[in-house]
Amino acid sequence: MTSDTPNLQELDRMRPPQEAWEIIARRLPKPEVEHIPVAGAGGRILAADLHAPEDFPPFAASTMDGFAVYSADSSPWREILGDQPAGAMIDAEVTDGYAVRIMTGAVLPQGADAVVPVEATELAEDHVIIHQEEVSPGENVRQIGSDLRKGDLVLPAGTRLGPAEIGLVASMGLTPVPVTRRPRVSIISTGDELVEPDQPVGPGQIRDSNRFSLATALHEAGAELAWSGMAPDKREDLETLLNERTATDDIVITSGGVSMGELDLIKAILFDAPDVQVHFRRLYLKPGKPLNFATRGKTLIFGLPGNPVSSLVTFEIFIRRAVLAMTGAAQTERPRLRVTLNRQIEPSDRIEYVRGIVRQDASGVLIGESTGVQRSSRLASFIGANALLVITPRETPYQPGEQVEAIMFGIPHS
Ligand code: AMP
Ligand code: MG
Repeated sequence: MTSDTPNLQELDRMRPPQEAWEIIARRLPKPEVEHIPVAGAGGRILAADLHAPEDFPPFAASTMDGFAVYSADSSPWREILGDQPAGAMIDAEVTDGYAVRIMTGAVLPQGADAVVPVEATELAEDHVIIHQEEVSPGENVRQIGSDLRKGDLVLPAGTRLGPAEIGLVASMGLTPVPVTRRPRVSIISTGDELVEPDQPVGPGQIRDSNRFSLATALHEAGAELAWSGMAPDKREDLETLLNERTATDDIVITSGGVSMGELDLIKAILFDAPDVQVHFRRLYLKPGKPLNFATRGKTLIFGLPGNPVSSLVTFEIFIRRAVLAMTGAAQTERPRLRVTLNRQIEPSDRIEYVRGIVRQDASGVLIGESTGVQRSSRLASFIGANALLVITPRETPYQPGEQVEAIMFGIPHS
């Protein structure tokens, strides 16, 4: 614990989620840039603005299978000069009385300024009869630069490269592409009672589930899992492991060992370590009250409560957002919607994030409903949930018809 640590009372003050987030946000390292081939860049965050290096399309192209013609030509039939498939370049000029058979995406031949679709034509030996009264210049032609102009800002820094974005990057030939480095994160599940999921459980034992929930959540957030494992409640082992992981990783997540018990060692280890600074260790939040946040140098340390729901909720609210901010993502926060309760909800003595299902009813109203028993050991309370309903403390129960805020981590059901 370093000298600039706040006093104990301040350290243990129950912080509302927003205040806790601001403390974390001040300690986030800046995103780092790396250049990787487009083939592996799906899901990554752009590190720089991408501008179109050329006009797109780079040539005037047909949008139809048909005949390339000169629009002012009024000849009743045209002699076919040849074929223009996509990816080739015919050596012919279209003038009055002539046409070139053309495919979708092919370059418009010289002299041609329009395409008559094949449905409006009739073939007769080596010529074609046009059954279209008027052909306007540019008809069925995609002009140079009509999709993108050279120099256009196509994708700003901070954009997540989804399917459409990756397609644009590839089509503009911008590979390797500048993306931000994914934060390296390790997960340490702590507890003498823990066994691996493929092991039978003895008396008092439980299978480690947090490690796998957190690894999945990390993957979805765009982090790289550097290491994950279990450790018993042994002070020296935990200290060694924490030292090793904080030396190499950007974020170290522990689960368990931050409550008030004798064997809640993580809280004590972080507090006592001379080179670790603890910034807060209690939240005005249910679940997740005993969350510890500390730093060792540039490494962020999150000491999550062991209860599966508490660890996932605190991950969702703080760590996910930290990972996104560290990757420079433009959007780090989940959208919040006002939803109408359809059942009574009893408030708690802290802000409660109730796992909920938000759906739109027949008249378009967004309804929010709790998933049932909210005990912090009950992972099933997350199943089917797409939102955290924000229930702030007050004297009286929340009534059906009242509106509350919903933090949306999925899309509303219909
Ligand atoms: P703790 O925060 O260590 O006091 O643990 C609180 C509760 O969460 C206890 O019932 C633990 O058995 C349980 N728990 C702790 N770690 C895990 C884990 N990795 N997976 C599932 N449950 C856990
Ligand atoms: Mg424990």
